Amino acid sequence: MKNKRDYYEVLGISKNASEKEIKTAYRKLAMQYHPDKNSAPDAEEKFKEISEAYEILSDAQKRAKYDKFGHSAFDSNSYSFGDSEDIFSSFFQGFNSSFSGGSFFDDIFSSFGGFDVETNKRGQDLQLILNISFEDAIFGKEVEVELDKYDRCDFCNGSGAESPNDIVTCSECHGSGQIKQRIAIFSTIKPCPKCNGTGKKINHVCHKCKGKKILKNTIRQKIKITPGVDNGDSIRLKGLGKPSANGSNNGDLYVVFSIAPSKMYKKLNNDLYLTMPLSIKSILAEEVIIIPTPYGKKEVKLDTKINLNEPIKIKNHGYPYKNSNSKGDLYINLDLYIPTLSGDESKQIKKILENKSDTKREEWLKKF
Ligand SMILES: [Zn+2]
Ligand SMILES: [Zn+2]
Repeated sequence: MKNKRDYYEVLGISKNASEKEIKTAYRKLAMQYHPDKNSAPDAEEKFKEISEAYEILSDAQKRAKYDKFGHSAFDSNSYSFGDSEDIFSSFFQGFNSSFSGGSFFDDIFSSFGGFDVETNKRGQDLQLILNISFEDAIFGKEVEVELDKYDRCDFCNGSGAESPNDIVTCSECHGSGQIKQRIAIFSTIKPCPKCNGTGKKINHVCHKCKGKKILKNTIRQKIKITPGVDNGDSIRLKGLGKPSANGSNNGDLYVVFSIAPSKMYKKLNNDLYLTMPLSIKSILAEEVIIIPTPYGKKEVKLDTKINLNEPIKIKNHGYPYKNSNSKGDLYINLDLYIPTLSGDESKQIKKILENKSDTKREEWLKKF
């Protein structure tokens, strides 16, 4: 998806378009490219592009994310790999804390600071793409994933030394953590390279963490999928990012949901669309037909007054609204066909219809 077009460009609006302008532009384009109305081969692709752009730009939070990070804020495909049916097919992406403004400043300060540079530096934030099925996104679910958790070593309490007596003063900087450097007439102060600015040296490293100060543990973390979750929605798990040097100031983990599209239903905001073959016979016989909704089968009685140009609408059977009991609607587009008739049946039907007075088309013809 490298050549993804800019969402604003897709909708033909400016970067500072108002909510109303976004909506208007979207409605106009959606009407124009709706696959049921437009038979051009690229109509469906265009329609998808328009819908996606609208889904992001109509949501203030997502729009802000997009404005800041562009497509990469949502393009889960570029990070995740493997089978989308497998909930564990996810991986960590070093994420340089672009979600949390905080650590940008931490980085700057730590490179200027003199003391304890390493230990105070916050660990990196991580991103985990969680692939979920369309059904799980609709009904919600609690899943359990295995995650790495970095803790401060409980034996040395994050000092990295086998005992407190093993921590001695650095001989290079004499405990100041700084060294003076003279270049021409200027003298600058730098963190001591021998002790990394800590002013201390360790004689015997901790046997448990091998002097790394942190221990990597595996935990099983429950993650709650809220019904109606959107593609790109994320939750933050505090402290489950990369560790700081002594495990006391870990980054966070952002779990980003990537929803597999449904094979049957097309989603447009909170409405779902389904195309169903329907025989003229079922309409003429006014049959009760069964419509599969994500929430189970629904019986609909057909009658001959049906408007064939309109989809059948089943209210409140679409995609759930987050944190609400209401849902969008389900629209069933009709793919009409005439059943194959035997010679005998065809004769009988012709006979029935022979004397049927139906002049609508002839009236229409007279207009020309
Ligand atoms: Zn030193
Ligand atoms: Zn230790």
